[in-house]
Amino acid sequence: MEKKDYYKVLGVKKDSKKEDIKKAYRKLVKKYHPDMNKDDNAEEKFREVQEAYEVLSDEKKRQAYDQYGHAGTQGFDPRSGNGGGYQYTYGGAPFDMGDIFNTFFGGGGSNFGFDFGFGDRQQKRNNRGEDLRYKMKFSFDEAMKGGEYTLNMKRKVKCTKCDGIGSANKKRKTCDVCKGTGRERRVQNSFLGQIAVMAQCSKCKGMGTIPEEECPKCGGSGLESKSEEVKIKVPAGAYDGMVLRFREGGNASLDGEYGDLFIELEVEPSEIFERRGNDLYSVESVPIHTAVLGGKRDVNTIKDSVKLKIPRGTQPGTIFRVKGEGSPILGKEGERGDLYVRVDIEIPKRLKKEERKLWEKLSDM
Ligand SMILES: [Zn+2]
Ligand SMILES: [Zn+2]
Repeated sequence: MEKKDYYKVLGVKKDSKKEDIKKAYRKLVKKYHPDMNKDDNAEEKFREVQEAYEVLSDEKKRQAYDQYGHAGTQGFDPRSGNGGGYQYTYGGAPFDMGDIFNTFFGGGGSNFGFDFGFGDRQQKRNNRGEDLRYKMKFSFDEAMKGGEYTLNMKRKVKCTKCDGIGSANKKRKTCDVCKGTGRERRVQNSFLGQIAVMAQCSKCKGMGTIPEEECPKCGGSGLESKSEEVKIKVPAGAYDGMVLRFREGGNASLDGEYGDLFIELEVEPSEIFERRGNDLYSVESVPIHTAVLGGKRDVNTIKDSVKLKIPRGTQPGTIFRVKGEGSPILGKEGERGDLYVRVDIEIPKRLKKEERKLWEKLSDM
């Protein structure tokens, strides 16, 4: 189904302020709340309003949406992966829509979530384990070179004793609290006042079934914690804020799919280079006599150094381009940006007697 424009869903303008968006949202959420509106399409509208608000109320997500449309709010396409098991993108971290329903109505940390049975997509997500997010720090040099690194992490995997079923005899029975529906009615305080909502069943966590005989190893959860070493291939040219995604590297859920693992790279700035896109910028001090008479100068590159030709009469602030000595270009093996070297002229602060005489001689000419 074609997704609707989030601004239109909330009936606000593209440049609307945060408060106006909030106002519009509150009005609509009251209007379409499935417990107050019995129209057939109220539920669908309610979901749309929630989704639109989740994006437009978050500055980062709103920016991504404005720039890239719905694609900007979806994170990566899981199937466009490349050989190394990671994917990358320029311009900010991907984010996941998965938090939407958990953060609603101030229920940030609680597991209380709205669940109105919103079609397949929603159903599926309830069955997925949580995504895990880690940050890893790299020096500028490491990011330029790329390479393999190891992340030690813990995640929930399916219990090996019961195969993730949660039951010692590997059988489950209908939940007695929700009678198999996976939902129960609860009253919740919210800014709308007291409202009754259909929430996930607290006993079976929405599964509709419970273990026949609780598995002693996992206590019926079907999950156990496992320490893992994850090999991470950092691509040459990795940048600060880059996010690598590992499909199904996150937590398992009972009878469901694994969430994903996201690793955000923190790249420390370099003392020598400033990076702009794939190009690098540096400053090189050149003695005044080299600038006047011309000559050669070693300049730093990310690999080693190159000899830069300084032409006679080079002015301070002149920028030289060294082709192909910039950052490796992501996704284009062997290709690199350029290095731009700005020349700074060293003016001697102290002169030896002989030097002073020479400068004086020059000045008298
Ligand atoms: Zn239940
Ligand atoms: Zn078990």
